[in-house]
Amino acid sequence: MRVEELLARLKGVKERKPGQWTARCPAHNDTNPSLSIALADDGEILLKCFAGCSLEEICSKLGIEPKDSFPNPNWSRKRPSTFPRLPLRR
Ligand SMILES: [Zn+2]
Repeated sequence: MRVEELLARLKGVKERKPGQWTARCPAHNDTNPSLSIALADDGEILLKCFAGCSLEEICSKLGIEPKDSFPNPNWSRKRPSTFPRLPLRR
């Protein structure tokens, strides 16, 4: 899946900077965008809900298969330091 296709399925998408977006999480009642989307250097899509939803929950709400869309669904456990932390300022 291309990141553009993923973003098209999400609500409230905002680009924070090139290759990084926030959106409303589809897996919980998200009024303040807590889903972070980032494009890794190798083209991998990184997804993280700061409310704690799992990648599987988010993908199932979006109707996509984590294993098809994300080469490494366990990226958060394997590469914790590579995921960019979004600043929580307004
Ligand atoms: Zn969530």
